[in-house]
Amino acid sequence: MRYAIIGAGLAGLTAAREIATLDPESEIEVFEAGERIGGKLFTVPFASGPTDMGAEAFLARRADAVEFIHSLGLGDSLVAPSGLGSLVYSGGQLNQLPAGGVMGIPADSSLIRELVSAETAARIDAEGAAPAIDWQVGEDYNVGALVRERYGSEVVDRLVSALLGGVYSCTADALGVRATIPQLAQAFDALVEAGEKVTLSAAVRRVEAGRIKAEGPVFNTFRGGYAELYETLAEQSGASIYLDAFISGITREKSGQFTLKGGGEGTYDRLLLATPAPTTAVLLRNLAPVATTALKQIKLASSVVVGLRFDTATGLPENSGVLVAADEPDVRVKAFTFSSRKWPHLAHRGGALIRASFGRFGDETLVRAEEDDLVDYALDDLQKITGFDGRAAGLGEIYTQRWFGGLPRYDETHLATVDTVRAALADAPGIELSGAWAGGVGVPAVIADARAAATRLVG
Ligand SMILES: Cc1cc2nc3c(=O)[nH]c(=O)nc-3n(C[C@H](O)[C@H](O)[C@H](O)COP(=O)(O)OP(=O)(O)OC[C@H]3O[C@@H](n4cnc5c(N)ncnc54)[C@H](O)[C@@H]3O)c2cc1C
Repeated sequence: MRYAIIGAGLAGLTAAREIATLDPESEIEVFEAGERIGGKLFTVPFASGPTDMGAEAFLARRADAVEFIHSLGLGDSLVAPSGLGSLVYSGGQLNQLPAGGVMGIPADSSLIRELVSAETAARIDAEGAAPAIDWQVGEDYNVGALVRERYGSEVVDRLVSALLGGVYSCTADALGVRATIPQLAQAFDALVEAGEKVTLSAAVRRVEAGRIKAEGPVFNTFRGGYAELYETLAEQSGASIYLDAFISGITREKSGQFTLKGGGEGTYDRLLLATPAPTTAVLLRNLAPVATTALKQIKLASSVVVGLRFDTATGLPENSGVLVAADEPDVRVKAFTFSSRKWPHLAHRGGALIRASFGRFGDETLVRAEEDDLVDYALDDLQKITGFDGRAAGLGEIYTQRWFGGLPRYDETHLATVDTVRAALADAPGIELSGAWAGGVGVPAVIADARAAATRLVG
């Protein structure tokens, strides 16, 4: 069987490796538009060691992902974080990031008193007595609108958008509850089904009560950066991988096989599109037009990451990083990750390694800014927020990575869109789709979705 995979990001490479495992006789060709593999996983060779400029961690609580990584022989490469807490910068002040609640949404005001006004605190504590939320089981709702209505804007702008923005590069107003905080949506469903009053505080309490105390670190990463993962996947897939191979069209021949425009020779029996949603929409236009129409609704959020290495870490807070409130005036950075504080294996290199992240959905101004300006903004904001003077700390290395359309927007229509795409694909045998837009943006979710797509494709 001849397989063509479009896109050599995490989804495409995982699928290639899975197909090779399930169908050892297969011939797999992967076509990548860029000049390297990995997509949004990108490890850069700093003089001090390999440094991630895209994803920098993954949820280690996903046992399926951890098992898969072990099956690749990479178990010994996994490393745990230091466990230092994170900070939130709001109202010109640094505070510890509240440990409870759900994505910054508390069950009562006690957790976030330092972060909101007395008026908002009182509103949060009175929410249980407000008229019930009209929640329909299985539906989705906008996170920002819901939390604003129940608790007020301070909670959204100071906490929820900062936390969700760290994952999705979007404010809470561009995201869906079920799409991004599924455990909270399930708690709302459960309240309706139990005939209980549906309030935000009750739903958050339900999530908190259902939390299982798990052992071990929440996150892991790779000692040598994500390159360990994408290079191993590529190698173990045994696939022929073509770089600078921009696929611009796909035709289904009368035989049912596929030919590609922009790469490949001859026909392919099976096709997997592991490209971002807008590209997938274009490539499917002649093969599954209903899926194309649905996929076009998925919008992308852009961001830029600036990696900074300093000779000394003296004066840098003993924390993993800082999230900046979305309503904070005169601060351009949305988050700093103090990578060398967060990860002991990076601390061993000496000095300080910091990632500054900019950009949220709907505003590409900072993503398009000059590198020199971005570095100045990062150093100014770092000093203002933490007191750490990066200019005096010996800035030795800089790497700027722009992620245009880096993440799909998981708004309140997203899950229904994905369902429509999947249903439309039922009429297109031999084709599967995967990627961050399909089953979740996190690395474990992308791996799971790609493996499932590969399994269906092999049949
Ligand atoms: C800045 C940033 C930080 C992140 N941090 C984390 C994190 O810490 N933890 C976590 O779990 N997740 C994180 N993520 C999310 C995670 O990295 C991504 O969701 C995941 O890597 C996406 O993989 P993918 O294969 O779906 O897509 P991609 O990586 O986008 O791969 C798609 C590939 O298809 C190629 N392509 C596109 N069009 C064509 C075409 N026409 N022909 C051929 N090839 C084409 C692209 O060049 C690309 O290589 C982060 C994402 C970003 C942007």
